[in-house]
Amino acid sequence: KISVRGLKKSFGTNEVLKGIDVEVADGEVVCVIGPSGSGKSTFLRCLNKLEDITAGSVLVGGIDLTEPKVDLNKVRQQIGMVFQHFNLFPHMTVLENITLAPVELKKQTKEQARQSGMDLLKRVGLEEKADARPASLSGGQKQRVAIARALAMNPGIMLFDEATSALDPEMVGEVLQVIRDLAAVGMTMVVVTHEMGFAREVADRVIFMADGVICEQGSPEEIFSHAQQSRLQDFLAKVL
Ligand code: ATP
Ligand code: MG
Repeated sequence: KISVRGLKKSFGTNEVLKGIDVEVADGEVVCVIGPSGSGKSTFLRCLNKLEDITAGSVLVGGIDLTEPKVDLNKVRQQIGMVFQHFNLFPHMTVLENITLAPVELKKQTKEQARQSGMDLLKRVGLEEKADARPASLSGGQKQRVAIARALAMNPGIMLFDEATSALDPEMVGEVLQVIRDLAAVGMTMVVVTHEMGFAREVADRVIFMADGVICEQGSPEEIFSHAQQSRLQDFLAKVL
């Protein structure tokens, strides 16, 4: 569960998030859409403390991220994040990339991590790539490894920031399918995406951000077929 109250985030004098209130229930899939620069990535980064929070409160899986002594390792174990650029370690095999964190943070023995790493690779359809280097994979395959790596910590929540925007079009589908499978097994997710078709199909709720606030939110049907705010109507007219 995620609970955000009055979240503000400034960079210097630039107030990027101007008071965000949102709750994400366990098992809920929330897609975040909105124009470039509206604060979508900053919002996600505040949810796992990649950014310091300027004001307000953020509770994630029972952890208060505004608590000064918050244990960042514990936070990052609960919340998996996948970015546009996969940032796999190039000198390690696919399986080593996946097993690194659980072993380092002593969540699992090497053998357990290998076992669950192989299970995760199977889940993302890349069992046969366990011993390959990231450089030999396609963009879509790399991104599926990045998702498996995030899942290796067994997080309760997954955050995705434009996970498909750096991919060639023919690879978008395979990555979206992995996210769809996670939704089907009840993973709590916040997904920033510009894939409107995907948001419409998978989201329980869609949030439209503009200028650092939640301008409108609702079911996919409400957002995509019955937009109320003119900002959202204009945005959809451009992207649909
Ligand atoms: P896009 O769709 O292009 O990814 P976004 O909605 O994710 O956009 P953000 O990346 O959250 O937007 O950026 C929102 C604003 O915050 C922008 O004006 C950006 O310049 C500013 N910003 C983001 N990160 C930083 C930073 N580390 N330092 C200073 N300003 C930043
Ligand atoms: Mg962004």
